[in-house]
Amino acid sequence: MAGEPQDDCLFCKIAEGHVPATIIRETDTTVAFRDINPQAPTHVLVIPKAHYRDAAALAAADPALAADILRETKAVADEDKLESYRIVFNTGTGAGQTVFHAHAHVLGGRGMQWPPG
Ligand code: 5GP
Ligand code: ZN
Repeated sequence: MAGEPQDDCLFCKIAEGHVPATIIRETDTTVAFRDINPQAPTHVLVIPKAHYRDAAALAAADPALAADILRETKAVADEDKLESYRIVFNTGTGAGQTVFHAHAHVLGGRGMQWPPG
């Protein structure tokens, strides 16, 4: 069923507390934790506790939950005192998605180039 935890999903396990992570924020519906391989001084992942394979599936199934993720990216930026930051949802293998549980990357604390690679 849409949104149900998946046994083989790393981020479901982090959301359930079965895999450790440096969690910096948690709400009823979301968890924010530091990326294990940071690409910037701040590199935090914001995930829904419910499982959706990517941002597109999340937005289609539960727009309010998608909004929760966006709201939490701002809370993460405030927590790390970031004035500028980048929010990334890699969606699909060709865009660099490697973990198929929807997540927003919040990146900041250094200069950013545009366009991204
Ligand atoms: P994606 O490539 O799917 O957009 O992003 C997945 C992110 O998850 C990567 O930036 C990767 O470093 C991070 N990641 C993968 N495994 C773990 C883990 O076990 N713990 C944490 N905190 N981050 C992880
Ligand atoms: Zn999952």
